[in-house]
Amino acid sequence: AKMRVGLLFGGCSGEHEVSIRSAQAIAKALSTGANADKYEVLPVHISKEGHWLMGEVAQQVLASGTPLQLATSDPAASLHSPASAAATLEAAQQSPLNRLPILKQAAAIDIWFPILHGPNGEDGTIQGLLQLMQVPFVGSGVLGSAMGMDKLAMKMAFAQAGLPQVKYVAVTRAEVWSNPCVFPKLCDRIEAELGYPCFVKPANLGSSVGISKVRSRDELEKALDSAASYDRRLIVEAGVTAREVECAVLGNDQAKASVVGEISFHSDFYDYETKYSAGQAELTIPADLPEQLTRQIQAMALQAFQAVDAAGISRVDFFYLEQTGEILINEINTMPGFTATSMYPMLWQASGVDFPELVDRLVQLGLERTAP
Ligand code: ATP
Ligand code: MG
Ligand code: MG
Ligand code: MG
Repeated sequence: AKMRVGLLFGGCSGEHEVSIRSAQAIAKALSTGANADKYEVLPVHISKEGHWLMGEVAQQVLASGTPLQLATSDPAASLHSPASAAATLEAAQQSPLNRLPILKQAAAIDIWFPILHGPNGEDGTIQGLLQLMQVPFVGSGVLGSAMGMDKLAMKMAFAQAGLPQVKYVAVTRAEVWSNPCVFPKLCDRIEAELGYPCFVKPANLGSSVGISKVRSRDELEKALDSAASYDRRLIVEAGVTAREVECAVLGNDQAKASVVGEISFHSDFYDYETKYSAGQAELTIPADLPEQLTRQIQAMALQAFQAVDAAGISRVDFFYLEQTGEILINEINTMPGFTATSMYPMLWQASGVDFPELVDRLVQLGLERTAP
């Protein structure tokens, strides 16, 4: 019998749309070639509001590539959710207890593929639920996902592993919002310790959502206020002028690193628009780097993977400061973007693992990790 893969996508996150695009590519890869004989895909959509939807509605979101427009005054008129979908949603909305009706049908799924990016998906929450359900799933477990999502926890793990990184200051929402006497002192401290430019980030997010590059006190204040609206935990990092290189990791206890890729763009930094508008960023795979540096980046990627206890899949992002030859680790993403043109699958393609094989390997790694 075919293995039933529960493809979990969408999610309550600023990266909802990216997740839909990743899921489309994975669903296609699991239903073509040799994979088609092996796997049956059951798409399960998590709406932006947190409702779990499967069957026809999930198929439609996947096929259209458009987030569910929640029915407002006229449910049936909603473009991508026909009357039946709207009715399902309405019923689901009546009680928070009905948010996870799918769990009753979980027995039908052999392995889950939570292709969710950002909070409520890449951060250990879904992973905890799946672990409690005692069903195998693709990717990192609770600890690896949570450590990889929270930039402060991640940086502590990297520091412990001896990985070099930019200087940073940890900030809480309370410091930004609650006390008018604390805020100016906080800004003074950031200016003294990091200077400008610096990067203000919500600790738990992705796709550059909520991130600002700031060059003045005024911009700093606004950026802190804005980042605080996304997360209780914030981080401010010293800005570096560097080439941006990324390395993909695949495997569990014997994980392997891919070739290294480079991103180039003309915008101020690699922000959301640059990431997801066609033609704004260029990927060079493999990156034009001395072999010694490539090996160093690959070794650091594997160390980072272990430092946060990641599993199966991760993409590790670095800064290469050409002037000094330094490589600084920026971050790890335990469920990186997975469209056909995303860095992660392209790095493996260039390393000899094509897209369908990559997806197959990830499913097998998920099974292996949960095997007794
Ligand atoms: P991803 O989509 O990779 O998960 P993210 O939201 O986790 O992204 P980061 O990778 O931390 O965000 O930062 C996004 C981009 O901002 C980087 O790729 C880089 O262009 C820029 N950037 C972030 N931090 C710094 C820094 N300290 N110095 C220079 N540029 C930075
Ligand atoms: Mg990230
Ligand atoms: Mg990310
Ligand atoms: Mg990044």
